[in-house]
Amino acid sequence: MSDADQTESPLEATADAVGRRATDAFALLGDETRLAILLAIWERHDLRADDNAVAFSQIAERVGHDDPGNLRYHLKKLEGQFVRQRDERGGYELRVPAQKLVRAVISGAGVHDERLEPAAIDQRCPFCDARTVMSYREGTLFWACHECDGMTPGRDFASFDPPGPLTAQPFDPAGLREWSPEGLRAASAVVGRRRLRSVFDGVCPTCSSPVERWFDRCPDHDPDGCTDCGLRFGTTAHFRCRTCGHHDGATPKRLALFHPAVVSFYHDHGVSTRVRAGDFESAKHVHDLALDHEVTVVGEDPTRVAVTASRDGESIRLTFDETVRVVDVDR
Ligand SMILES: [Zn+2]
Ligand SMILES: [Zn+2]
Ligand SMILES: [Zn+2]
Repeated sequence: MSDADQTESPLEATADAVGRRATDAFALLGDETRLAILLAIWERHDLRADDNAVAFSQIAERVGHDDPGNLRYHLKKLEGQFVRQRDERGGYELRVPAQKLVRAVISGAGVHDERLEPAAIDQRCPFCDARTVMSYREGTLFWACHECDGMTPGRDFASFDPPGPLTAQPFDPAGLREWSPEGLRAASAVVGRRRLRSVFDGVCPTCSSPVERWFDRCPDHDPDGCTDCGLRFGTTAHFRCRTCGHHDGATPKRLALFHPAVVSFYHDHGVSTRVRAGDFESAKHVHDLALDHEVTVVGEDPTRVAVTASRDGESIRLTFDETVRVVDVDR
């Protein structure tokens, strides 16, 4: 091992994974006093107020620090990246990265303990008509079927309880206790659509970077239990962020509901495509609408995927190109 290797800290060694600025930020936060300072300022933070600045004396009192020189040293370290000093007012306020950091900790607190045991909801499985349940573990909210394998008929989820996931959404545990099981179904549909809408419109919902996008197609797909891809549907749109690694996959059936031509097609037929938190029926209804869409691969090289929605003897067809962008609308 060379001298350079010996003096390199573990954070420095991982700098190439996330970039120097990110590891510098992590290093800055590796101190209890600095974290206490962020929370002390956050406590008095009011986004609607013109003046968010918290006086030095207030911070010192809140964190119980009796060495002003040392506290100023830590504040100085946080300045720039996390804290801004408002000279004209003589106080400190949180910059946006610090606000996001504190929010992430608050919304994710207890992420490993929070659980919801399977709770029945009034929505039948779209594939086998059995009863379905909501459950929550490790930061993910599941809507699942007890009887069939849900969206993944070719995968072994036997160790899961219940085994057949129909949807799986990252969901902040802070919101978990605020909803009934059916309320969770609607809230998770809203959260899932918001994330999917964001990547479909080209921006990562986590870090605001551009996303890569492509279709995966299973060449010999068996919808009743495909041992090749393991999924219910053989054509999946993928979205991946190269900056933070965020990934979303979705059937194009769902993406069609984001296109204004499809929204107005349904509107003309008196059908709403809106999902609202607190409105379980809207979540059920829009999920069924998307499942009824027909997906056809209409081009091999380059890939072209068509999605057709039908109502009262009329239909509309969207064509997606290989980058999951709509290139044609036929009504
Ligand atoms: Zn089922
Ligand atoms: Zn990202
Ligand atoms: Zn397959």
